[in-house]
Amino acid sequence: MNAQTDHDLPRYGLYIDGSWTTPTEDMLPVTEPALSSTMAYITNGTAADVDRAVQSARTAFDAGPWPHTPPHERARILHAIADAMEERTDEFAEIEARNLGAPLRKTTFVDVPWAIEHIRIFAELARRHPYEPLPWIDVPSVSWNFVWREPIGVCGQIIPWNYPLLMAVWKIAPALATGNTIILKPASYTPLTALMLAETIHDTGLLPRGVLNLVTGSGTMVGEAIARHPGVDKIAFTGSTEVGRRIMELGSATIKRVTLELGGKSPSLVLPDADLDLATDGVLFGVFFNGGQSCEAGTRCFVPEALHDEFLDRLIKRAESLHLGDPLDLETDLGPLVSETQCARVEEYIAIGKSEGAQLATGGRRARIAGFERAPFVEPTIFSGVRNEMRLAQEEIFGPVLAVIPYRSITEAIALANANRYGLGAAVWSRDLQRAIEVAKRIRSGTVWINDHHLINPLAPFGGYKQSGIGREHGTSGLLAYTEEKHIHVDMMQKREGRLWWDALLPPTD
Ligand code: NDP
Repeated sequence: MNAQTDHDLPRYGLYIDGSWTTPTEDMLPVTEPALSSTMAYITNGTAADVDRAVQSARTAFDAGPWPHTPPHERARILHAIADAMEERTDEFAEIEARNLGAPLRKTTFVDVPWAIEHIRIFAELARRHPYEPLPWIDVPSVSWNFVWREPIGVCGQIIPWNYPLLMAVWKIAPALATGNTIILKPASYTPLTALMLAETIHDTGLLPRGVLNLVTGSGTMVGEAIARHPGVDKIAFTGSTEVGRRIMELGSATIKRVTLELGGKSPSLVLPDADLDLATDGVLFGVFFNGGQSCEAGTRCFVPEALHDEFLDRLIKRAESLHLGDPLDLETDLGPLVSETQCARVEEYIAIGKSEGAQLATGGRRARIAGFERAPFVEPTIFSGVRNEMRLAQEEIFGPVLAVIPYRSITEAIALANANRYGLGAAVWSRDLQRAIEVAKRIRSGTVWINDHHLINPLAPFGGYKQSGIGREHGTSGLLAYTEEKHIHVDMMQKREGRLWWDALLPPTD
């Protein structure tokens, strides 16, 4: 790091109770992976900071107008936030690309527009009145019954580094839409676009003080302080299964509502009748998009034995054509991984794959890119000869590594696809849509794409079976995950006579 420029780097405070704290001496560096250099500093938050943020969110919820703001007004504010983000689109896309190492092409065409659209969609969902009628009932008495949906309260939201802006938006949009208040903790590797989002929202001046708070700092300090704080009603977490387990444990003391979106080892099933041109690109898109750093990445590819060699050749040729390079160059397909730590983890899994006897079909090395020699690039890597029980095929690697596994029958392919502790996503590649749907129904995962991958639809539930999580984000399920449901019973008889239940204790007097 050049000491002369260090002074000029952005230094972020915490966003608590509607204002920014002054950066202190205790700051954490934020790295730009392509350059292996510091691009900003964030505050190393403490449990005391979390406590102040929770108090602010608590007051904003218990005494503030936000939970009672009419849905159409909350919708208007969410649209205004989306408008304000739109004005900073290029800046969001560039900072996301630099901080994550993701290609600018992806951040410009996927992350930022999807994030903005996500907010707009939840603005529209928010307009729906939180009233849900129940069928009329006249036993044991004539009454009008309905469900009233209310915000849960203070929500702690802990997000990972792999899609920093989208993750922030996925968390805050439904929470705000339903009238909750928030403490958001971004990942320490990639906090910058979440901080920009808080700045953008602050500048609109539309959210009451304390509705949104953002505390940066380590997971073990800030994350745990949020998860154990008795003033927090709900935790929404995306990240590793191990940390998800810890969050459940900490949240259990005060019976917090918990939604967890955790790891994955998603299968891509190529059926014998698949369009192989489409499936080749689709399987590679499934595994290498975002450098393989996606929880829903299709990292296990099941191929019919008869097609195995031909399909493997196609995958190798196409994977070798991918261009690794400067994330800010629009020609770049794959940037570096997020960090040296992640790169070391991926390299370790590649070594494990080799030691387990899988054959390295292509890639498998750290890539040295001219001008970016110190950056943690990993070649797109494909292993063949993989058995499903190998660690390579069982554990989440979170890097550009594909395991290709042959199968003899579709029944066997489904059994292999399901033989994993995760169940987040899956893809089925086939021209026969009816058969593909039958296969999709038998896969134990929260989402199955047929002839596609990664398309996480804001209106469709997204989440995991098995150890991939609890609860769903997006769509009505995702919205309702930020509400408590209350049954309201209204007596319609308006008189004493004929009340069968009362009569059980208090027989009528005349
Ligand atoms: P983590 O699960 O450790 O981190 C996710 C978020 O949780 C971050 O904000 C992190 O903070 C925070 N956190 C970490 N420890 C705790 C804790 N004890 N209590 C509360 N919050 C905590 O993921 P990693 O970044 O360490 O990545 C490790 C692996 O996890 C990856 O290689 C991948 O396999 C998987 N992963 C899965 C993701 C998914 O989308 N399902 C996303 C990211 C990772 P901080 O950043 O400060 O550590």
